Amino acid sequence: MRTPLVAGNWKMNGSRERNAALLAGLVQGLAAGTTCEVLVCPPTVYLADAAQALAGSAIRLGAQDVSDQGQGAYTGETAADMLVEVGCRYVIVGHSERRQLYGEDDALVARKFRAAQAAGLTPILCVGETLDEREAAATEAVVTRQLGAVIEAAGVAAFATAVVAYEPVWAIGTGRTASPEQAQAVHAAVRAYIASSDGTIAGSIQLLYGGSVKAANAAELFAMPDVDGGLVGGASLQAGEFLDICRAAG
Ligand code: PEP
Repeated sequence: MRTPLVAGNWKMNGSRERNAALLAGLVQGLAAGTTCEVLVCPPTVYLADAAQALAGSAIRLGAQDVSDQGQGAYTGETAADMLVEVGCRYVIVGHSERRQLYGEDDALVARKFRAAQAAGLTPILCVGETLDEREAAATEAVVTRQLGAVIEAAGVAAFATAVVAYEPVWAIGTGRTASPEQAQAVHAAVRAYIASSDGTIAGSIQLLYGGSVKAANAAELFAMPDVDGGLVGGASLQAGEFLDICRAAG
């Protein structure tokens, strides 16, 4: 039995004032009882503040990106052990915005995944196809290539302490969501691909769906047998909406 996980990716949004209000709303709302795991990923500069605001609550903290390198002369980067020190337990790696806007390729994503795990962080590995790739019937090939690059670099055993998020690029921030059946088909393919190397890990790994998840569509997505929760962007910026998504998972 896999525990559902709902992760909020705030992207490059927030201010001290807005973050404090959002986190207070989440802490208060979740105290009423939710059985899923809940995680928020604020921008790096606010992580320490967020850790303080979440102290004593069940809400976990994650980062949106991490360097593939250890500490040293890498201007502008953030090392995995720094994220651990400020209270992170998770980090998103390979988000499509990083792949598309900042040129991150499969090899770099794999190195980030390994750097995160070496520091004790749980990586949330994002995979997903563009609209062109879907229309060319290449979805499974793309997703298994992205996953395979990390399995090759880190070994399948590394996925015992990792999360995979299937995020079709055409559904991120567009308001266009994959249907529950489309999401389930890819999630089943991802699980089968991992199972071809290790059935036990495939059975226990949390597979999240991401792409315009909101309170109105969360329940039907999370009802799919291989969808174990969501990675939520825009809708994670409103406490009420995000809490409703958590309730749909819990
Ligand atoms: C995301 O950024 O990971 C995401 C899924 O965004 P949105 O929910 O806004 O589509």
